[in-house]
Amino acid sequence: MSSQSTEPRIQALPKKVVDRIAAGEVVQRPASVIKELIENSLDADSTNIDVQCQGGGLRLLSVSDDGFGIHPQDLSLAATRFATSKLKQWDDLKQIQTFGFRGEALASASMVGRLSIVSRKRKLPSSGGTSCAFKMSYSDGEPTSKAVPSAGKEGTCVKLQDLFYNLQSRKRAFEGTRKENEEYQKILNIVQRYSVHKADHGVGFVCRKKGGQTDLNTASIATIKKLRKQIAEMEKMEEITDSLKTDLNALKEQCTRDVIGHVYGSEMAKELLPISCSKGDVEKVTLSALEAMKNEESTLNSEKSEMKLVTEGNSLMDGLVVNMHDYGANIAKETESQTMTQSGQGQFSFAYRCRGFITNGSYCVPKASSAFLLFINGRLVESSALKKAVESVYMDMLPKGAKPFVYLSLELPGPHLDVNVHPTKREVAFLHEDQLCEALASSVSELLQD
Ligand code: ADP
Ligand code: MG
Repeated sequence: MSSQSTEPRIQALPKKVVDRIAAGEVVQRPASVIKELIENSLDADSTNIDVQCQGGGLRLLSVSDDGFGIHPQDLSLAATRFATSKLKQWDDLKQIQTFGFRGEALASASMVGRLSIVSRKRKLPSSGGTSCAFKMSYSDGEPTSKAVPSAGKEGTCVKLQDLFYNLQSRKRAFEGTRKENEEYQKILNIVQRYSVHKADHGVGFVCRKKGGQTDLNTASIATIKKLRKQIAEMEKMEEITDSLKTDLNALKEQCTRDVIGHVYGSEMAKELLPISCSKGDVEKVTLSALEAMKNEESTLNSEKSEMKLVTEGNSLMDGLVVNMHDYGANIAKETESQTMTQSGQGQFSFAYRCRGFITNGSYCVPKASSAFLLFINGRLVESSALKKAVESVYMDMLPKGAKPFVYLSLELPGPHLDVNVHPTKREVAFLHEDQLCEALASSVSELLQD
């Protein structure tokens, strides 16, 4: 006979516990916080981003920028779940949500660590900035203090201390000198990749352990300084001639090469080839996908039958993702061809743009310098399918086991992306994966044959 007291009964977990578990999913490790903080700084139009860590990011993670800052009155909302300044309406969300966070990064950070923000609005010629910085601390998504005036330059400094203080088992997974060093390497790796990607915008990155030597400083590179000056000068000009544009593009290319050289070795940087290829019209396909979603919104709300979505191939996120995951890629392919327009710019059409740098086919990249840097729509992601497709082109050219250096920046229609395949690795899936792999492999192959 079972006693009343031991009989298990279903109970809802307290909200705080639920939030903490969910936050632990979002903030898998110190490096995943750094990525979010860097993306926030970039979204704020920063040109200098300074990353500092202590204890492999467990004791301290800090990102300071010179971006446009947070309005003092908005500070209290910065760590509120689903509060964001980046999307205002459903349409925006449909496009951006593919990156997964939607106002969740700072909220999650505040649930698994001690978060504080110091921010000072950038001065605008028209409205004037704020005369000083303001500081606020947060816990479990809520401010724990009022906004306190504080010393600080224009921009934002986000600090996260004692990460996983309330998730002991997670914390233990990152403790110890070896693991702390490993995690710092992961963090440095992310900062390095963003520094390559943003070199042509003149954005400089610094990364170091607190109190330690600087492991990365791209802000000090001469061409980066020159590019910033050039951009500032051009902003003041009324007319920009074609020759100025050509010079600027050459300087941008040099900046990317120099940053790659700074990070991955200058010998290797000399062996880089610029790559540029595309198909279709990314913007038009994106617009058409968003338009289709908008049109189908009412259908979505009224028709609950997923099968109907599949047969009609209506909404992308809700139709296509359902298609691929629940009904298999074959059905997805079929619905895709049904909705393709003649012009090749329908909501499901294949379109991409790619630029980047890759090592040539005869250069053997030293092991420490080989890497595969992939950005899709400005965000650092991973795709084992793309990596394999591109690296396999080199297999016939390089000695066994040798890997190239590849940096690719891809633009794809946002709604064609699904990043929720693997939260930690940022592994992405996308529509037309096979076609994209083929297209990139053949462009790389062509370039290497030249
Ligand atoms: P999201 O980036 O998806 O909006 P976050 O939780 O990362 O969500 O950030 C919440 C909000 O805080 C942002 O929308 C932005 O307004 C503000 N914010 C965060 N970091 C910065 C920063 N470095 N500079 C300016 N504003 C920031
Ligand atoms: Mg963010």
